Amino acid sequence: TTTIRRYDPVKYATPTGTTLTCKGWIQEAALRMLLNNLNPEVAERPDDLIVYGGRGKAARNFESLDLIIKALKHLENDESLLVQSGKPVGILKTHADAPRVLISNSQLVPKWATWEHFDELEKKGLMMYGQMTAGSWIYIGSQGIVQGTYETYAAAANKDFGGTLKGTLNVTAGLGGMGGAQPLAITMNEGVALIAEVEGWRINKRIETRYLDLKMTDIDAAIDRALEAKQKGEALSIGVLCNAVHLLARLIERKIVPDTLTDQTSAHDPLIGYIPHTLTLEQANILRESNPQEYIARSYESMHLHVQHMLTLQSMGAITFDYGNNIRARAKEHGLENAFDFPGFVPAYIRPLFCEGKGPFRWAALSGDPADIAVTDELIANMFPQNESLQRWLKLAKEKIAFQGLPARICWLGQGEREKAGLAFNELVRTGKVKAPIVIGRDHLDTGSVASPNRETEAMPDGSDAVADWPLLNALVNTAGGASWVSLHHGGGVGMGYSIHAGMVIVADGTEAADKRLARVLRNDPGVGVIRHADAGYDLAKDTARKHRLDLDQQLS
Ligand code: NAD
Repeated sequence: TTTIRRYDPVKYATPTGTTLTCKGWIQEAALRMLLNNLNPEVAERPDDLIVYGGRGKAARNFESLDLIIKALKHLENDESLLVQSGKPVGILKTHADAPRVLISNSQLVPKWATWEHFDELEKKGLMMYGQMTAGSWIYIGSQGIVQGTYETYAAAANKDFGGTLKGTLNVTAGLGGMGGAQPLAITMNEGVALIAEVEGWRINKRIETRYLDLKMTDIDAAIDRALEAKQKGEALSIGVLCNAVHLLARLIERKIVPDTLTDQTSAHDPLIGYIPHTLTLEQANILRESNPQEYIARSYESMHLHVQHMLTLQSMGAITFDYGNNIRARAKEHGLENAFDFPGFVPAYIRPLFCEGKGPFRWAALSGDPADIAVTDELIANMFPQNESLQRWLKLAKEKIAFQGLPARICWLGQGEREKAGLAFNELVRTGKVKAPIVIGRDHLDTGSVASPNRETEAMPDGSDAVADWPLLNALVNTAGGASWVSLHHGGGVGMGYSIHAGMVIVADGTEAADKRLARVLRNDPGVGVIRHADAGYDLAKDTARKHRLDLDQQLS
């Protein structure tokens, strides 16, 4: 007998405040962050336990969820809970400094690492797709993607436009779950965003949440308005109701060259994601059902032309990059040999940050009180006064980002900075300046925690794109260092067979023991990234390694 279970908002409400429901703050933090991931304000489809990113889940099924909750409440301060693809499978004796939870999600032996095999196992109830922060209980809603996108455009601004996108035209497409962050990230960097989107409701939704400024339906009028804003140096975002291919074709016809050009349509999925330019939305919805083969063929044709237009605009002078949706691979599969002539966003913009140990550092207030995040915001702002893009982000985040679930903040910090911030947070907890412990984590898209050859590790200078020893070492050293929970996942971001990545979360509970763990983990975790990038040959990473005594020659001399 199978009963259909639904998310129960009362039963699964995230505990807040200072009263423990578990036997220690670390277990309590894991419990609160797990339930926070599933909070309907945070999760996309809590009834299916899906947090984000297609089918990224926090627990395998409701039975497993109930059992994880029970286990976390039962767990002693010298024990560790093992979670295997979203299901709790055992509690083992460890020690006080060991992680309280060890998680492995979606791991398959490489030869079996395909969606087909995974789907079979999932149907049998044997596996779950953990994505990155879904199955490792540190997703914080859309703030994460806004900040990552902001950081990418800030890096573009620094590299090519003297530090700001003011007076630049930035063209892209797709205003979906993730792509919807683009207009806000571009205007936060003071630029003009012109974004093609086929579905009207998506544009409306972004306007309602104040991520987007204007909706327009006429392509030429939208281009004209964007050029006017560019000329005036106005920060403005325009969603234009059309197919990306049509917008790009018109730009080419009018010889208008965007300053930056990318794309966030769901090109990773040619059937349920991408909408071909030869179909209207209505026709697309019908054909997808009636003749999926024909639909996919049209998608591929369209993506081929889409990338061709991007290459044309690139040759006319647009700074063009792929935004992690695999559109280049799709075009190449359809015979466009030079599809990879424009780079992915990581080698183009993010890699230098990784070389300095920078990555998506984030934290949440377990008290549930936004005032606690205000205290941490102020602390971070005072701690890194020289970091301009960080200062701008903190100011804008306060104005524009609504908290979802537990109040949280994200900002990119590098080697040395993360440690400093973590210890300062622990001090805030110790001295009662915040009401309850702070939980610190990061995305798996980070400097030392992921191997993903079409994304995070694309085009490494020594050709080590597919080497996955690094995320494994990262998980091992974070376990050894005493992170609060550690996770090792497969397939996040780009799908089965394409990535291996690790997560870590650490709790600042105000104790001296936590000081020691924080100092170790927040040094070692980005440290693996600095070492990895130095090993691949980056001078910036070698300098960072020397500066922070992560360099083996120096350590051995
Ligand atoms: P989504 O499915 O929620 O949204 C995609 C949007 O694109 C939809 O609104 C759809 O109507 C629109 N669209 C599809 N085809 C179009 C076309 N030809 N022209 C104009 N609009 C079109 O997906 P999402 O969560 O927003 O993610 C988008 C893509 O970006 C995915 O492939 C995702 O993997 C990728 N992504 C990568 C990163 C990264 O690497 N950092 C981050 C976020 C998203």
